[in-house]
Amino acid sequence: MSGPALDPTSTPPGQAAEGALRPATLAVTAGRPAHDADQPLNVPVTLTSTYVAGGDLEYGRYGNPTWTAFEDALGALEGGRALAFASGMAAVTTLLDLVGNGAGVVAPRHSYSGTIAALADFEARGRLHATLVDVTDTAAVVKAMQDDEDCALLWLESPTNPALEIADLAALCQAAHGLGIRVVVDNTFATPLRQRPLELGADIVVHSATKFIAGHSDVLMGALVVGDDEVHSALKSRRDLAGAVPGPFEAWLALRGLRTLHVRLDRAEENAAELARRLATHAEVAEVRYPGFGAIVSAVLAGGADAGDFLVRATSLWVHATSLGGVESTFERRRRWKLEAPSIPEGLVRLSVGIEDVEDLWADLVQALDRISS
Ligand SMILES: *Cc1c(COP(=O)(O)O)cnc(C)c1O
Repeated sequence: MSGPALDPTSTPPGQAAEGALRPATLAVTAGRPAHDADQPLNVPVTLTSTYVAGGDLEYGRYGNPTWTAFEDALGALEGGRALAFASGMAAVTTLLDLVGNGAGVVAPRHSYSGTIAALADFEARGRLHATLVDVTDTAAVVKAMQDDEDCALLWLESPTNPALEIADLAALCQAAHGLGIRVVVDNTFATPLRQRPLELGADIVVHSATKFIAGHSDVLMGALVVGDDEVHSALKSRRDLAGAVPGPFEAWLALRGLRTLHVRLDRAEENAAELARRLATHAEVAEVRYPGFGAIVSAVLAGGADAGDFLVRATSLWVHATSLGGVESTFERRRRWKLEAPSIPEGLVRLSVGIEDVEDLWADLVQALDRISS
């Protein structure tokens, strides 16, 4: 018999032979300490600001073994090399910082509102210019890149937050590369278990690890994942300078969350698909958006903003809160945020479906929906 686990001389998964392992196995095993006597099974939280000189780490802003374990695990799942950041937005802005002065960025008009705000902020300071596009219209996205001779970056998010639009990643990556344009994909909603953008041609993957990866609504963290060593070292240098680094405890929590990502996501997705089906049959729901995978469902209420504001206050299990991707079900009316795009319907409620029993989730939702018009 053979196989990595049965070979006494093998290194642990995450350090070798990862290509042969499936995502659920990588989630559990990648980034573990070596299988040597008295090694801890889990990587410890390394609380230190500095290191004894002469090695690779030197100082706490440049590296930390707990980050490295998280980065190895996420990198294994995405098929690239990961860098941990203090938040998703720390990853987003570190990346935008690398766009050359005066360059163009093409991005979905329904990108995460923080990303849109960051692009607007960079643009207002004359650093770059952004062209916002309908990411479902592949030809329009390609034309926007062709029309801007200074375009250096195609920013993609798929599914988008909260419109849940899907982009044709493979076609857009190919078109962008033909024009010498780099491609970034925010993979927060799909997670590497449902979509691996580097395999579809993307250069860089962005994550808000705050969401599904950490998965328990108890930590903020972000990450970038790249295939190319030069891009990795440029981003690492930028992270060193900007200092947008996570604490070791945050990295440990995110890694602990990542270990169960596949189990949580399977269950949350099953719940989400069922709730999407049932919501579509309710008279108060004008439209249900569910891309067929993942745990986010957007429901557009026939009664608009008032109906949405009523719904989010009329439940007992569902928590009215922003953010998403935790084990508990939360929801919010997205247009309550000034930053949200005006093209998002007023009555759109974004549901982040958790891992509770679906019957309890539905009963709580339907009693609230039934009371909207009364
Ligand atoms: C939340 C989110 C971000 C920002 O991440 P933070 O961890 O909140 O900084 C970026 N992109 C998407 C798609 C998100 O949902």
